[in-house]
Amino acid sequence: TLPKVAWIGLGIMGSPMSENLIKAGYQVTGFTLEQEKLDRLAAAGGTAAGSIAEAVRDADVIVTMVPASPQVEAIAYGPDGILENAKSGALLVDMSSITPQTSVDLAAAAKDKGVRVLDAPVSGGEAGAVEAVLSIMVGGEQADFDEAKPLLEALGKTIVLCGPHGSGQTVKAANQLIVAVNIQACAEAVVFLEKSGVDLKAALDVLNGGLAGSTVLTRKKDNFLARDFKPGFRIDLHHKDMGIVTDAARNVGAALPVGAVVAQLVASLRAQGDGGLDHSALLRAVERLSGA
Ligand code: NAD
Repeated sequence: TLPKVAWIGLGIMGSPMSENLIKAGYQVTGFTLEQEKLDRLAAAGGTAAGSIAEAVRDADVIVTMVPASPQVEAIAYGPDGILENAKSGALLVDMSSITPQTSVDLAAAAKDKGVRVLDAPVSGGEAGAVEAVLSIMVGGEQADFDEAKPLLEALGKTIVLCGPHGSGQTVKAANQLIVAVNIQACAEAVVFLEKSGVDLKAALDVLNGGLAGSTVLTRKKDNFLARDFKPGFRIDLHHKDMGIVTDAARNVGAALPVGAVVAQLVASLRAQGDGGLDHSALLRAVERLSGA
């Protein structure tokens, strides 16, 4: 029989991901802060819990998908939290994007309670979550990875154990660096093309067929063309991730000269009140710099 799953954090990513588990036959009990998301889980065939404690009590596998390190720490360590209430022997799969050190510390703290942990952040965005084609980068023990793999296969397509605890988060930090720099390059090209009077749609189509093509350009093309910055992936979250990769790179002595500039542009969008927009809104930052 399939393991019983508790799912904490039913946001843009957590809602469709947990629904994919339900479709695959898993029994899912969820908790999140918005009542409307709990109703959505129940409508999809899951069970809405009234607290984290209630959600995790009988679970074999606990999945967390919350914004950042402080939320992971709150839901793991609080008196009503996961470690106080999970069964001994449960497997905690944290799919949030957080600092690698938080994942390392969580694994150590959980071990004292008999709970095993994997860090398993994802890439692929809301569309990847809905279509169950996420890339899932995992850190932790091989045996725990093997146990979680069938469940992760209901959520994603490319699922790789990257190394010990925290390694998944380190790879995710690199992912966020590449995505931000790629969006920034596309945004600069869009402003340049428009100011040059070239048909933007035609230009992006042909660019996407060559070496300049990318998943970012494919997924964000319509956002650029329509100036539609509804998230998707919020600038606030990418700001968090640029902080994670900047700190982690500094710790190991890796230079991120272009990443540092893009981190500043992401921060400037946030400072101007655009933190709730999709990260394709880096186009706005370039437009402001260009007087467009
Ligand atoms: P979101 O803000 O849409 O959802 C976060 C959810 O966490 C909310 O439903 C909220 O209720 C819940 N939550 C927060 N604190 C909680 C608490 N104390 N107890 C219970 N629930 C709590 O965020 P999202 O876009 O789904 O992102 C989640 C994580 O996935 C982030 O770490 C993000 O960086 C990462 N991520 C997002 C995307 C994307 O495209 N949106 C892609 C890859 C990875």
